[in-house]
Amino acid sequence: MSISIPQNSPKAGYLAHREEINRAISEVMSSGWYILGEQVKRFETEFAEFLSVKHTIGVASGTDALHLALRACGIGTGDGVITISHTAVATVAAIELAGATPILVDIDPGTFNLSLADLEATIRVWKNSPSTIRLKAIVPVHLYGQPAPMPEIMELAARHELLVIEDCAQAHGAEIDGRKAGSWGHASAFSFYPTKNLGAFGDGGAVATDDDQLAEQLRILREYGWRKRYTSDVPGMNTRLDELQAAILRVRLRYLAQENQRRRDLALLYDEGLRGVANEFRLPSVVKGTTHVFHQYVIRSAKRDELQQYLRQQGILTLIHYPVPVHLQPAYAGRLPWARPLPETERAAREVLSLPMFPELPEGDVATVTAALKKFGTSADAI
Ligand SMILES: *Cc1c(COP(=O)(O)O)cnc(C)c1O
Repeated sequence: MSISIPQNSPKAGYLAHREEINRAISEVMSSGWYILGEQVKRFETEFAEFLSVKHTIGVASGTDALHLALRACGIGTGDGVITISHTAVATVAAIELAGATPILVDIDPGTFNLSLADLEATIRVWKNSPSTIRLKAIVPVHLYGQPAPMPEIMELAARHELLVIEDCAQAHGAEIDGRKAGSWGHASAFSFYPTKNLGAFGDGGAVATDDDQLAEQLRILREYGWRKRYTSDVPGMNTRLDELQAAILRVRLRYLAQENQRRRDLALLYDEGLRGVANEFRLPSVVKGTTHVFHQYVIRSAKRDELQQYLRQQGILTLIHYPVPVHLQPAYAGRLPWARPLPETERAAREVLSLPMFPELPEGDVATVTAALKKFGTSADAI
């Protein structure tokens, strides 16, 4: 085993822009100001421009962004929030952090995003149930960088008077009908965890919104409930984006569109390379009218575990996002108040495999991966 191809590489992202990032870090260190200063302010403005929204508010993580967005929208105890179970556990954890109850719906097996049919059925059944939990919001997740069907979700939400808070942790720069993910809902949450499409070198997150009042509420909530320093108007928390991460994010934001394009080019190379074994693996689909930003390139295989093992022997590293759906995790199993069966979610957890994907991944490595997959596919056919 000589070759070694990583699944992701935040370090390659650093090395690609090393001088600019080092300069940004050095400027912050020399400025003498390290928390909520000029860099955060500028990043918030630049990221809002990028998304075409009025405000973004920097916070300490994607989990906090989602938690705070829900709280600022007035969602808390006694409120139900619909989301999916085939996602990072943070999506569901944030709903409970806000005091609300997660209500899980199944996914569309083609896109891994929430199933509109199951969403409608869940709303209908829930509204007619004797539960005291009031249905308040939907949290669509743009999983793997593929946008969820926002026009339909917004229409459904308006009809049932529900708020929509987008989980954009995997979808920086993704678009639906030319409009960015994160600019559709009442608010949206981003993570800047190092492996995300827009990654810091530490933790970070942001909330985006067009609503002035919501933005003000979020700024207050992120720092002890202060409207004015040392006066807490509401019980708040400490969840701030720091100056170092903001300065780094400002550099990386300048390259985001170009790096997302590179991810799409690599995805096309995978598509072409794997066309011959499409029977063996199900390749990702791109919904018409959307711009998929390929946070992950995820294939499905009935022999997933065997395949992952085979690739590892060839020095090719892959990951499983996610091996256990949230509703089956020890912290949640049997505890969530009410759930419809989630067969597509459970099937996806058995079949998904995330291939190497990051902007600096050499094209030759994609060819190595597709060749190995082809070999596995052909030998599997022969059995
Ligand atoms: C990464 C991620 C989060 C959480 O972000 P953190 O910054 O790690 O708190 C939430 N939702 C999804 C879909 C994610 O991928």
